[in-house]
Amino acid sequence: MIVVMKQGATQTQITNVTARIEQWGCQAHISQGEERTIIGVIGNGRPLDRGPLERMSGVERTVPILRPFKLASRDFHPRNTVIELNGVSIGGELLTVMAGPCAVEGRDQLLETAHAVKEAGAKVLRGGAFKPRTSPYSFQGLAEKGLELLAEARDETGLLIVTEVMEPDLVPLVSAYADILQIGARSMQNYALLHAVGEAQKPVLLKRGMMSTIEELLMSAEYVLSHGNNRVILCERGIRTFEPYTRNTLDVSALPLLKQLSHLPVIADPSHGTGKWELVEPVTRAVIAAGADGLIVEVHPRPEEALSDGAQSLKPERFATLMENLGPIAEAVGRRI
Ligand code: PEP
Ligand code: MN
Repeated sequence: MIVVMKQGATQTQITNVTARIEQWGCQAHISQGEERTIIGVIGNGRPLDRGPLERMSGVERTVPILRPFKLASRDFHPRNTVIELNGVSIGGELLTVMAGPCAVEGRDQLLETAHAVKEAGAKVLRGGAFKPRTSPYSFQGLAEKGLELLAEARDETGLLIVTEVMEPDLVPLVSAYADILQIGARSMQNYALLHAVGEAQKPVLLKRGMMSTIEELLMSAEYVLSHGNNRVILCERGIRTFEPYTRNTLDVSALPLLKQLSHLPVIADPSHGTGKWELVEPVTRAVIAAGADGLIVEVHPRPEEALSDGAQSLKPERFATLMENLGPIAEAVGRRI
């Protein structure tokens, strides 16, 4: 349930309510709105009696949250969460574009891409150092060497870094280099990993599993949030359907739906969502029009030589054109790029 405090409730009243909630063995999550404070009560599985809380001074009312996700829900946090990170804001009026190669393959490839995407207006450099590949014989990533190269690219360009972490034990290592921890589609329901990134001090980019429902995605976000990390960015990256012409089917409706259900920023990945570079720009237009807060796009200077996902990678020139063409669409839906 959530406890809505009266406008102007005092700090002592808020503390008293929190103390009562904790006495019951529940957790209290405070969300300070502009007008009033909302306290989320995460139960211990047993039904809670709302009466005692409603009678406490400073409490306006209590509202049950019927959905299984609580902290991720817009009921708990009515305003959009905007994640501020070294001058970049994610979830605000400005769209945030993350771009870069699928995998870090080497110094020249990464730096060339980093400079190009920065020039085109991206704010975050993507690149996998640990790659979740379908085949154990495919390129698995450069591991820590890849992380070092990402850090070098950040130093040279000022871009933030987002990169995937696949194992709980590697969260400290990846956190030492990355600005944003990416949880890949295949790991969306790795609960030990969600627990570990929930305790990390870095924002988390949580990608929708390729066979996961919207509610399952939000429940995974709930794992991260309930372990104390409130900086979660959701990502629609396409789901498996019967259609083989595209690698995945990007679920455009998930974007406005996630924005309705949750206060968390939501971005889209038109690269994995389509699997074809020719479809990346048109699908990007659709997701921005549908309300995405940003994008994560694969860019490679020589896609034909890419060690992974070349078929869906844009050349830097095409990425620059995509960025230029986005302006009017962003404006039409009250956003800026
Ligand atoms: C990636 O971003 O390179 C990636 C592996 O994505 P996903 O987890 O969405 O497949
Ligand atoms: Mn990829």
